[in-house]
Amino acid sequence: MENTMKAVIFEKAGQYAVVDKPVPKIKNPDEILVRIDACSICGTDMQILKDPPGIEAAPGVTIGHEMVGTVIETGDAVKNFKVGDRITADNNVPCGKCYYCKTGHANMCENLFCLGINGDGFFAQYAVIPDRLAVKIDKGLPLDTAIFTEPLNCVMSGMDKIRLLPGETAVVIGAGPIGLYYIQLLKLNGAGKVIAVELNDFRKEYARKMGADLVISPSESEKIKEATNGLGADVVIDAVGACIKDALAFVRSSGRVLLFGMNFAATQTICQTDITRKDLTVMGCYIGIYSWNKTVQLLENIPMKLEEMITHRLSLEEFGTGFEAMKNGSALEVVMYPNGR
Ligand SMILES: [Zn+2]
Ligand SMILES: [Zn+2]
Repeated sequence: MENTMKAVIFEKAGQYAVVDKPVPKIKNPDEILVRIDACSICGTDMQILKDPPGIEAAPGVTIGHEMVGTVIETGDAVKNFKVGDRITADNNVPCGKCYYCKTGHANMCENLFCLGINGDGFFAQYAVIPDRLAVKIDKGLPLDTAIFTEPLNCVMSGMDKIRLLPGETAVVIGAGPIGLYYIQLLKLNGAGKVIAVELNDFRKEYARKMGADLVISPSESEKIKEATNGLGADVVIDAVGACIKDALAFVRSSGRVLLFGMNFAATQTICQTDITRKDLTVMGCYIGIYSWNKTVQLLENIPMKLEEMITHRLSLEEFGTGFEAMKNGSALEVVMYPNGR
């Protein structure tokens, strides 16, 4: 094995670089060395590379947090993995000691350490991670399906919160990747009607392909009432992060609103009496929690329309191409294969 590898690092505000770095070594007995077979660009990476950054990453750190890999070396204390196992891995390392970790809310950990932000992530040929972050996946699961585990895991946690009943009507605001996962999972969960609200024609087309029963522009919101006997939807999900006002308008009285997307610059003025008077339940949802294994079970057992969301298949060196495509909205899912396809 070579001593150096390619990696994409965060340099400074708005700047990344593809560099040669030493291949990381196992330092603790509970760690595994993983060959990264595929990694994908997420909205979080886009936030890191914004100027000024939406998320502050440590300069020099390898970015990226979505990956599928193969175990190529295990530390002495590793029992659950062996060389050759294919895995996906969570990039969030909770401390296990704080109030939130000890009360079942590790996603709110006060000392959360995120690979790809605070420490080296997965836009590289290799990574060393604690074994507890990894989950083994069926070798028969295609790489281009397994790569969706991380974002789907977050969406699964959102599904857990809204507790959709079969037949219920849901509105999904925004048909980017997150909105498209929600559309599919809502339909799988037995939603009566899923209505997607999206401006962009390219994404509207995908929303239809993914199973949305009705796809409308934000200016056509009266169609939501028409489709729900004048009531509004049982559940509204904001997958954009700036649409609470619309969400409150689209939901029926006593309905549920899930605010999932994040836009750090968004500030909307709402009338909170709309929430009180309509007897609404408004929920936040931040990163997946305890749903990784279930997400792997989902991918291994239920056919989903994921691979067709991949608009770009690139090498690690072509990161810039994927980054630009994400930026200008011509990409949905950009997958890179650091060790070739
Ligand atoms: Zn992600
Ligand atoms: Zn903690």
